Amino acid sequence: MIFLGKRVLVALGGNAILQSGQKGTFQEQLENVKITAQQIVRMLQAGHEIVVTHGNGPQVGAILIQNELGSASVPAMPMDVCGSESQGFIGYMFCQSLHNEMVEAGLSGHEPVCIVTQVEVDSDDPAFVRPTKPVGPFYSEEQAKARQAATGESWIEDSGRGWRRVVPSPDPKRIVEAEAVVRLVEAGSVVIASGGGGIPVVRLDDGRLKGVEAVIDKDLAGERLAKEVGADVFMVLTDVPQVALNFRSPQEKRLGRVTADELEAYQAEGHFKAGSMGPKVTAALRFVRNGGERSVIACLDEALEALEGKAGTQVVGS
Ligand code: ADP
Ligand code: MG
Repeated sequence: MIFLGKRVLVALGGNAILQSGQKGTFQEQLENVKITAQQIVRMLQAGHEIVVTHGNGPQVGAILIQNELGSASVPAMPMDVCGSESQGFIGYMFCQSLHNEMVEAGLSGHEPVCIVTQVEVDSDDPAFVRPTKPVGPFYSEEQAKARQAATGESWIEDSGRGWRRVVPSPDPKRIVEAEAVVRLVEAGSVVIASGGGGIPVVRLDDGRLKGVEAVIDKDLAGERLAKEVGADVFMVLTDVPQVALNFRSPQEKRLGRVTADELEAYQAEGHFKAGSMGPKVTAALRFVRNGGERSVIACLDEALEALEGKAGTQVVGS
């Protein structure tokens, strides 16, 4: 039998870079990324082509705080710039860690590359009318209201923890650098792209692009990237082994292999929380509905097993 390697889009969750309870020092993040890189190298050794995307919540949060606190000395940068900084920071950690793990494994020909990635959204996306995604530091009510009045930004009270800025979370439409990603993958590289859901941009009437103050969900952007690079498998790696029904209740039931129709019915019953499992399930469904072979939602430390269909939740066409 001839073995056929798959082209796989791997969407990494927060735990791939920072574990809950950690402070977020560079050393901590680099150690987590090293463990993640070992999982990616196992998939490469098994003959697969890998494109990686990742979250950036804690990292871009820290960059926003640094910009705020430093703004008396140097100008604060807008959100799209902070997002691009986080892509460079995280991409650097992945490129170096992957390189080092490949040296260790005696694997060559897959030089990792990170692409600063813009993701197009519609300027008339309804999300722009109603911002929902909390970002950056917490403030007191007075500070928040003063900021709101001075800048026109939206601020809300965030679950008893203080006031926080909220920005729109529009739906990703197109990955601007997708063709460059394909060229690099075809040359053998592991590509890290669309970090943090990508830098949100809108296309102007004359075709030019412009950054906007928004945050794109990284799993939804990952699905777009998967489709645009022609991935066979869209794999979301997080911190739970499988998607569950009645999650964290005595009736909890984990899902192994499900069809898109079954998963969609479970989603309509409200089993998957908005902001965590909800967008992963939506992205997994979209990939299969858009003609993808298979979506997988699994735990990071079972990446290769999940890719081989032996772990995780496997979503297939109906
Ligand atoms: P990531 O940082 O990997 O993107 P999230 O924290 O956003 O991950 O989402 C993963 C989390 O989703 C899990 O840790 C789990 O607590 C939660 N979750 C919510 N609903 C479910 C469900 N139905 N099945 C499994 N996990 C769920
Ligand atoms: Mg998380």
